[in-house]
Amino acid sequence: AKQAGRNNFQFYSAACAAGARQQIAIEQQLKAALHDRAFHLCYQPVVDIESGEVVSAEALLRWPNRDIGPDRFVPVAEATGIINPIGRWLLREASRQYRRWQDHGLPSIPIAVNVSVVEFRDRDFAGRFERTMREYGIDTDALQLEVTETAIMDDVDHAVAILSRLKALGVKILLDDFGTGHSSLAYLARLPLNKVKIDRSFVAPLTHDVASQAVTNAMIALGRTLDLEVVAEGVESKSVLDYIGAHGCKQAQGFYLGRPMPGEEFEVWYRQRAQG
Ligand code: C2E
Ligand code: CA
Ligand code: CA
Ligand code: CA
Repeated sequence: AKQAGRNNFQFYSAACAAGARQQIAIEQQLKAALHDRAFHLCYQPVVDIESGEVVSAEALLRWPNRDIGPDRFVPVAEATGIINPIGRWLLREASRQYRRWQDHGLPSIPIAVNVSVVEFRDRDFAGRFERTMREYGIDTDALQLEVTETAIMDDVDHAVAILSRLKALGVKILLDDFGTGHSSLAYLARLPLNKVKIDRSFVAPLTHDVASQAVTNAMIALGRTLDLEVVAEGVESKSVLDYIGAHGCKQAQGFYLGRPMPGEEFEVWYRQRAQG
């Protein structure tokens, strides 16, 4: 047993070292991508289930290394602080895209941006958000903000101050990954939110997993009670779409409805859809 324990330890430390090396490699690639302006955004539609209309688009960060997705590089960007310049660029890029779609004759499609806990600590976050929208001459409801419970709970009073200020401007506030955090429901009722996004870990197994069904139904009911819009994310099939629609959820996002696409591709996709 002692022998096995030692082997385990060796295995563990080797894995750790490999993890640290990978972390450093990602950090170097992040710096290079920032320097080379090699980040771009993809946009995934959020659809009104009943009318089929696109209600908004979520901006998702992409970089040249296709093998490593944001689930892995965003945490490194947060740990190193690189997320701050990325976040500032992202806000401008999303504003630019909103303008471009408008200039090309598309109806106004609000763009939801994800904000990390680290960016949220910036005392001037709300001010910068506001100035960026003004700088690009876009409506104050052009951008929406997706925030997680983790980011809010990091400093609740500060978060509520930022969110209230932006919400008062017309920026919709979305609680992302709803159901995966640890906050109490009492808290949720006090947060300045417009919308909750049911995490895809509950949505994906909906057609066969009774526990996910129970949790999802409860979240939809809670959203309604608190007068919040509810969107289910990670909808990959018609059967899941039908399920949530039948259970009172009004909006959906997922591969079944539309993949994340570069801005130009989104525009083509949008026009084709409107025609047929
Ligand atoms: P998220 O905010 O929950 O974003 C939704 C993720 O679900 C996206 O992954 C999207 O591509 C994926 N997705 C959408 N529909 C489906 C579906 O039907 N099935 C499946 N399996 N997946 C679906 P992505 O783009 O890889 O992003 C992963 C996470 O990385 C995001 O989760 C978010 O937490 C973070 N992230 C992405 N972009 C940004 C960003 O600009 N800033 C920050 N701070 N985080 C970001
Ligand atoms: Ca999100
Ligand atoms: Ca999410
Ligand atoms: Ca997520």
